[in-house]
This record gives sequence, C-alpha cells and structure tokens, in this order.
Amino acid sequence: MFDTLSDRLTSVLQNLRGKGKLSDADIDATAREIRIALLEADVALPVVRAFIGRVKERAKGAEVSAALNPAQQVIKIVNEELVAILGGETRRLNLAKNPPTVIMLAGLQGAGKTTLAGKLAMWLKKQGHAPMLVACDLQRPNAVTQLQIVGERAGVVTFAPEPGNGVGDPVDVARRGIEEARRAQHDVVVVDTAGRLGVDEELMKQAADIRDAVRPEETLFVVDAMIGQDAVTTAEAFRDGVGFTGVVLTKLDGDARGGAALSVREVTGQPILFASNGEKLEDFDVFHPDRMASRILGMGDMLSLIEQAEQAFDQDQAEQAAQKLTSGQLTLEDFLEQMLAVRKMGPIGNLLGMLPGAGQMKDQIAAVDDKQLDRLQAIIRGMTPAERADPKLINGSRRLRIANGSGVAVREVNDLVNRFFEARKMMSQMAGRFGF
Ligand code: GDP
Repeated sequence: MFDTLSDRLTSVLQNLRGKGKLSDADIDATAREIRIALLEADVALPVVRAFIGRVKERAKGAEVSAALNPAQQVIKIVNEELVAILGGETRRLNLAKNPPTVIMLAGLQGAGKTTLAGKLAMWLKKQGHAPMLVACDLQRPNAVTQLQIVGERAGVVTFAPEPGNGVGDPVDVARRGIEEARRAQHDVVVVDTAGRLGVDEELMKQAADIRDAVRPEETLFVVDAMIGQDAVTTAEAFRDGVGFTGVVLTKLDGDARGGAALSVREVTGQPILFASNGEKLEDFDVFHPDRMASRILGMGDMLSLIEQAEQAFDQDQAEQAAQKLTSGQLTLEDFLEQMLAVRKMGPIGNLLGMLPGAGQMKDQIAAVDDKQLDRLQAIIRGMTPAERADPKLINGSRRLRIANGSGVAVREVNDLVNRFFEARKMMSQMAGRFGF
C-alpha cells in the first residue's frame, strides 16, 4: 500500500546523508519534498501542513542530539511525527466492566464491516473471549447470510432475525441480540450494521438508534483505505452523525496510495485500533502506529540503530573526550571508555549491517572482527591506571608485562601504543589547523 510513498521518503532522506551540517535551506528543501510525497499519497492537506510544520520546527530548532548525525536527526523527527499522526501509542480495545462488551461496527457499504466482524470474532476468541455476532444489516440482500457464513468460519455464534419476517427492525434485533448474549454468557458482542454506498441521513439515524439501544463500549468506524481523500469526508460525516471511539482500516493490502491511513486519525481525533489486509479471516491485526510508521519510512533497521546510538551515548563523557582529543591530552583510559560505549550497541558487524546501503558492503562487514576489538580491550585492561593515563610510561619491560598479562604478542602492544600516539598527534594538529 505505501510503496510509492515509502520510496519517495526514503530517497528524500537519503539525500541528506553525508551532510555534515544542515542549513535552514536544506531543511526547507527536504520539507518541500516530503510535502509533495505526502500529497501525492493522498494525505489530507491540513494533515500535511501540520506534519510539515512540526518537522520543520523541530529540525531547525535546538533539538540536537550529539549521538546522531544531521541526517539521522531528521529521520528520527520524521519517524516520530509519523508515529504521532498515526496515533502515538497502540490503543487497546476497551472492555466493559459488566459484560457483555458491545462493539458496534459502522461504515459505508463495501467498507468491509461484515468481513471485519468475522475477523474480530476470531481474534477475540484467540484472546480468550467468547464473542457473539449480531446481524443488524437488514438492508443489503444477503448481508445476514454473509455474516452467518463468516461467523461459522470464525467458529462463533451469530444472532440473526428469523427469516421470512420481512425487512425487520434492526434496533429490535440489536436489543434482542444483546439479551441473548447475556443469557448465553457471551462476554463480547459485535454488532454489524447497514451501510450505504454514500453517506445519507437515514443511514446515520439508523446507526444512531442502534447505538442508543445497545450503548456500545466501542463504536468502530470501518473505512476502506483505498477510497483515498473520500475517507476523510466519510469519517467526518460518521463522527458527526453517529460518533465513534475508534477506526478500523481495511484493504491495506491494496495498491492505493494510503493517504487515508495517514489522515483519518489526525482529522477525527479518534485512534486506529485495527487494520485489515486481505480477504481471509487471518488477515487482520491490532494497529501499531510505530510499526506502521517504520514500514512507511522503510528504514526499520536505521531507526533501531538511531535508538541504540542514543541509548549508548553519554553526552558528558563524549564532550570530555572531545576536549581532551583536541588538546592532545587523550589517554588510553578515554580510548577504552569510547570503545566500550560503541560496543554497548552490539557487535560491530551488526551495527554496520544496519546502515542503509550496507547490502553492498557485505564483504567488508564480514571482515570486521570483534575479536580484534576484544584484544585491544584486553591490552588496555592489562595496563596500570598510571600507564593508561600517561602512555609515555610504557617502556620495553612494561610492554612485555602487559603482553604476558593480556595473552597477546609484544608486537600487538607496540602496535596499539604507536597507533595511539600517531592518532593523538594527528588529532591535535587537525584541531590546531581548524581551530576547534
Ligand atoms: P460491508 O458491506 O461493509 O459489510 O463489506 P464486506 O465485508 O462485505 O466487504 C466488501 C468486500 O471487500 C468483500 O468482497 C470483501 O471480501 C472485501 N474485503 C473486506 N476486507 C478486505 C481487506 O482487508 N482486503 C481485501 N483485499 N478485501 C477486503
């Protein structure tokens, strides 16, 4: 569903890579590209505006984390704002204190309500509930039979009006359905209601009457994600006409542009609870804003890398090290601390593997040897605190002692000490030249 949007966003954000610093003009240009990508994906204009406004403000603001480079910071902000428009936290289904919990489904005809009733029933059963379906769509020919069929497939009971009694009164069926659920000790009741091809008053009135009769814990607005911009107007009409407590997106498996999914929460203020992505009863899941956002960004691994970098990074320690580095006072103790900080993030090969474009670097990644780092660590640990603080002390006999103590050859200790001095010299020269 989000392929085009995902490709666009990925390429916009990848353009930022390698930039040492982002100017306001860079951020404006990136924001413009993201705006176009969202509009082309059919995201509603007010949602796009609000989104871009927040991304720009945060990217230009002082929200700077030393653990991340500028491109990573923008990716992080875009991701967090995507999660926010999708609803933030995962919203769980509310259950009534006194069962049965009534869940009413509302939406246009063809939105996928009946199919959803079956999916929801099966999911509820897996969660240990004893659900029952109630057929209140008496408008559409065969709707009752269709609900009975999905109910059977899901292995749950369906309450339906007796055939042959004419059209019947959906409010009465709903009321009797709840009574039956109470009697038969079903703890959750899913009420399917009639939809129309377009929004009309009669439809709204009927749904509102059913709502008043059964007083649902949750009224779920079911919306076909493939209807694009119409999703927003339909959602507003249902919000004003019936009111709802949550949204279910259906047909996320389709190849539409997905803007509905990104707009409906922000426009209606109600959370998305579930997502349907296929015709089979199993094609259904709880909606997780964070997972959906990283699917849209197509940068799942990059995002976990950002998270790990932030967790492992100690701002004070890094500042001190940088200060010492540029003034030529770096010690082996600092070097060890930095190495440990990086290693807290996991094996080096894994870290590199998470970087975008790592696919083409497979061989180099395989060659990065964590054992090598273990050896460096062992050598430094084999030194006394005085030696780490002032590596100049490390003469020939000390090198032999360190090598024996850490189980490596003297040559390796020599290498480490020499490389350390070279690096320190180079850093202080650079610092002098660039004036930092
Ligand atoms: P209702 O009128 O709201 O009850 O909608 P239905 O449940 O009858 O669904 C309308 C059509 O959409 C049916 O052909 C369903 O099989 C199909 N459908 C429902 N949900 C999904 C979904 O998530 N993905 C796909 N591809 N089709 C779906």
